[in-house]
Amino acid sequence: MTRVTVLAGGVGGARFTRGLLQHLGPDADVTVIVNTGDDMWLDGLRICPDLDTVMYTLGGGISEEQGWGRPDESRRTSAEIAAYGRGWSWFTLGDLDLATHIVRTDLLRGGATLSAATEFLCRRWQPGARLLPMSDQFVETHVRLAADADEHRAGELIHFEEWWVRYRAKLPATEFVQVGLADAVAAPGVLEAIRSADLVILPPSNPVVSVGTILSVPGIRAALRDTPARVIGISPIIAGSAVRGMADACLSVIGVDTTALAVGLHYGARSEGGLLDGWLVDETDAPAVPPLEAAGIRARAVPLWMTDVPATARIAAEAVCVAALAPIGLLHTPDPDLELDPATLPIAEFAFPGPLRDRLVAALLTGAKTTTTSTLAEYRVEGEPLPVVGGRQLVVDSQNRPVAVIETAGVRVVRLANVDLDHAIDEGEGYRSVAEWRAGHEAFWHSDAMREHLGQPSFTVTDDTPVVLERMRVIARLHP
Ligand code: GDP
Ligand code: CA
Repeated sequence: MTRVTVLAGGVGGARFTRGLLQHLGPDADVTVIVNTGDDMWLDGLRICPDLDTVMYTLGGGISEEQGWGRPDESRRTSAEIAAYGRGWSWFTLGDLDLATHIVRTDLLRGGATLSAATEFLCRRWQPGARLLPMSDQFVETHVRLAADADEHRAGELIHFEEWWVRYRAKLPATEFVQVGLADAVAAPGVLEAIRSADLVILPPSNPVVSVGTILSVPGIRAALRDTPARVIGISPIIAGSAVRGMADACLSVIGVDTTALAVGLHYGARSEGGLLDGWLVDETDAPAVPPLEAAGIRARAVPLWMTDVPATARIAAEAVCVAALAPIGLLHTPDPDLELDPATLPIAEFAFPGPLRDRLVAALLTGAKTTTTSTLAEYRVEGEPLPVVGGRQLVVDSQNRPVAVIETAGVRVVRLANVDLDHAIDEGEGYRSVAEWRAGHEAFWHSDAMREHLGQPSFTVTDDTPVVLERMRVIARLHP
């Protein structure tokens, strides 16, 4: 089981985590540590915007259009509150969403911690991940104004949500202040979730007022530095702009450029006392990769637009992949002089995820398996070039975790009828004759999964079917 811990804000963190869960599958053990710096009291209710966005998004109750709140809500209650001249006219809450705040507030007033209230709310939403507030104490992000605005004076602190929603982050500001931080400790389970994870992810959340706020809670930054897990971040900045929202306004307050490179360097390399082992940037930000790597951060340029769940799951897969590659010291190689640049390796997938892949990967790792066979049709449908001798590939397991680097030692394309006994035995699956080998492979090639993969419902091999015989050796194992 893979244990992954995510440090999330609202929309960006929630959408990423939804893709991550899709990628990892039902066995994954995911904890989301959620920013509560945007929380506030409003109309007598405790509002936790980021916790609710994550809970609704993962629980299937989010308004996809807004990115927060519930779909098909009326604003009747908010309108009634406004008619009394109360509340914030620029911060209206939907009627369905209000039910969540009422229940939460009731629990808090009854003595429950925010952690306990969150757990209670999640019993209904079943988000598929453990949601932890960063702290049970109330820590609220406030913004110090640089100029007068309406009833506010320069130098005054206003709640982040007022600066963000009422003023659209356009008021000049000098700093963010976490009110209540002095008395705050990380919520139960938070530090443990970072220390015991296999992988920690900084999703594409606002680096200043989402991730930055979580990092300000005592103990969290130190836990990230010390965890044996890899810490991988995904840039919330693409091509110099904050994809959705106004993160650029927050970055400029703390003096960081709105670029994927600057944000990566702002978090810093873990080897240099920073937080990151790896950092994904969008493909349009590929020029940022060499300077990031020079700074000690394993970087990769891949598409980072979370357009839908499958696209987001692919981003998560890249994050998992980079985790195993970063830094190079993670690789245990039998050859100390081996020079590898695993970030650029193509992926080798044996069979389909499941028991067969698990067997094949295990045989590969024990050294029993040194050959593999594919039909030429598989390469064609995947649009993949044939392996070349000396070429290296990253082997992934059924959870798409990288487990080894292999090097191709030989490639032949032959008629199926011409496969020889040595090749069949070296498949490492216990075959003692070519006939046995062929029967085993025909069962796989004629399976529904393969026929669907090839888009040929009646795909059938014959003696004349061209097959690609590859011989390989494991040159590096990746630590789990
Ligand atoms: P908030 O609390 O609702 O503001 O949400 P987060 O802090 O979790 O995330 C907001 C940030 O997500 C935005 O500032 C964007 O920079 C980032 N973001 C939103 N959509 C995307 C996307 O499709 N791709 C990437 N890479 N970043 C995104
Ligand atoms: Ca937020």
